[in-house]
Amino acid sequence: MDRSITRRDFLQGVAVSAATAAAAPLLPTGHPAFAAETAPAAADPAMPSQGAAVTSQDAAGYYPPRLTGLRGSHPGSFENAHRLAHGDAPPQPTLLPERYDLIVVGAGISGLAAAHFYRRAAGAQSRILLLDNHDDFGGHAKRNEFELGGRMHLMNGGTLEIDSPRPYGPVAAELIKALGIDVERLARTTQHPHFYERIGLDGGVFFDRETFGADKLVVGLGGRRPLAAALREAPLPPAARADVLRIETGAVDYLPGLAADEKKDRLSRISYLAFLRDLAHVDPAALKFYQARTQGEWGVGIDAVSALDAWGFGLPGFRGLNLPKGAIRRMGFTPAGYEETGGSYRLHFPDGNATIARLLVRDLIPDALPGAGAADAVTARARYAELDRPQGPVRLRLSSTAVRVRHVGDPDAAREVEVTYVRGGEAFTVRGAGVVLAGYNMMIPYLCPELPERQKQALHALVKTPLVYTTVALRDWRAFARLGVHRVYAPGSYHSYFRLNPHVNVGDYTSETSPRRPILVHMVRTPCKPGLPEHDQNRAGRTELLATPFDVFERNVRAQLARSLAGGGFDPARDIVGLTVNRWPHGYAPEYNPLFDPDVPEDERAHVVGRAPFGRIGIANSDSGGGAYTDVAIEQGHRAVMEVLARA
Ligand SMILES: Cc1cc2nc3c(=O)[nH]c(=O)nc-3n(C[C@H](O)[C@H](O)[C@H](O)COP(=O)(O)OP(=O)(O)OC[C@H]3O[C@@H](n4cnc5c(N)ncnc54)[C@H](O)[C@@H]3O)c2cc1C
Repeated sequence: MDRSITRRDFLQGVAVSAATAAAAPLLPTGHPAFAAETAPAAADPAMPSQGAAVTSQDAAGYYPPRLTGLRGSHPGSFENAHRLAHGDAPPQPTLLPERYDLIVVGAGISGLAAAHFYRRAAGAQSRILLLDNHDDFGGHAKRNEFELGGRMHLMNGGTLEIDSPRPYGPVAAELIKALGIDVERLARTTQHPHFYERIGLDGGVFFDRETFGADKLVVGLGGRRPLAAALREAPLPPAARADVLRIETGAVDYLPGLAADEKKDRLSRISYLAFLRDLAHVDPAALKFYQARTQGEWGVGIDAVSALDAWGFGLPGFRGLNLPKGAIRRMGFTPAGYEETGGSYRLHFPDGNATIARLLVRDLIPDALPGAGAADAVTARARYAELDRPQGPVRLRLSSTAVRVRHVGDPDAAREVEVTYVRGGEAFTVRGAGVVLAGYNMMIPYLCPELPERQKQALHALVKTPLVYTTVALRDWRAFARLGVHRVYAPGSYHSYFRLNPHVNVGDYTSETSPRRPILVHMVRTPCKPGLPEHDQNRAGRTELLATPFDVFERNVRAQLARSLAGGGFDPARDIVGLTVNRWPHGYAPEYNPLFDPDVPEDERAHVVGRAPFGRIGIANSDSGGGAYTDVAIEQGHRAVMEVLARA
């Protein structure tokens, strides 16, 4: 906690816009409230089984959005990539007779957008193959779908919504429009952000006994209750309560005598923790209260987020410093707080930006998602068997990890690139006139060892932020209603935040209104290691995530909800009817923040050095744009395709 923090630690610190434990298996087969269609895809012995897994995307019944258990980087999706990183040679490949104009590695939003832009530029008959190591498309933009109490319930497994600290640029904005998404109109007509408040529910904070000495849910803290009254219920010493009140409502200048620019410079060099502890002299118990406040946004706690970012994001304690926001805007960087700073419009589909991924798939392979328009796509059932038809100009092949990408001959003169991928334990090689690598950039040096050394080093440096979005299916939400709470910040708990599914009605999809009916709960965990530099926290978190079996997540979810909602009569054995743990060991792309290194020339920034085209190979993904946002993913897909076409 006392280590000194260099500003380098914060360089990539801004990401987007958080007793019954050992009980019996969670998902009793045939629970009346829960109908799962297929079983988890891979053999994790801890995963509850609800029938035979359908593992071939061509088989009837293959429908990954309804799989439960460990999802996101699910078992079976990452092992081939990790073997490659450990130096193991893939099996001897079979050269397939297929030939493509473009092969795209990674069917996240960036890769799907790349395929869209290629077709737009080179013609709809262009032959394109997309490969993805997951059993579903969309990358982080994954859909969790449940059938509960006779109706569809959706949740985002990762990428949540259309939002960005910057307005969407023309490339991303036009693609969104071309997909039929009228962001302004849908935002006006489908979102009900205050639904739960209108029915009398509020925000709250859960204090756990391990961190704060007593288990206590304080409803209204961080919600609509007067702060002083709510704080009186918190298990915090009087000095800590007074400090929270001072930080939240006071206007003390903790950097007296400095000009605004000097204050910002100082804030850019210290963590938010150091600001609270050393400048505002906040009580240690209050520091614990604030520790997880930054985790949802940055994936790390206040020890590894700069005070300047915390200020820009609107976190408390800075009012008395009187800092103007305009100066940051002029530098072209806008730290969240979109409404004030001119960021993009916000729109949340019930499955998050999985709707964008699904609309892109419809655009590329119309038979794979029947219907027309953005609203109808929300409830449309994707036809996975249509994704990889030999006769289609665009083919999307799942559960296929690219392990080698090389030119057929000298990169400067070659007419073709070959991509080797592993699928079902076998390796295959396909050839294309161009390739876009739209997967995690830090893996590219393993795929293309011929890249220049400087570029490989830059790519390796693009460490992503791990995080977990857990979706819990509940039989009903009466416990929430009895307590009067719909979202809970839990600074000391396994998941630092949970909330009832946001209320959105779009097309045929309607959200639940009765607490007596089933609902989904969204929980956020960021596996960070406070005290380490940010990227070391990311690496440690990634290792932890991959080593954590499903039953550990399950026990923690059950224990956390049981303890937090005990006063509302919550019984995990009775009330929890489904559980999907979306783990993202490679989550948010590292954000390039010009505020901290304005003097680094554009062509020396890691994501810029890393994305340089190599012969007929272009590099996309949000990593290559230095920002963990959907508009960045789209723009980078576009740039990479234009570069590949320029070499054609
Ligand atoms: C939990 C979470 C929440 C987020 N919320 C938001 C949000 O609200 N708004 C927002 O704008 N952004 C959000 N983001 C950021 C998100 O990363 C981007 O918006 C966008 O979805 C990234 O798309 P992408 O295609 O660049 O990368 P990805 O989604 O990561 O897609 C890359 C794909 O390539 C695959 N791949 C990698 N290597 C290989 C290989 N060798 N062979 C085959 N396939 C490979 C990956 O597994 C993945 O499927 C969030 C991210 C996370 C993790």
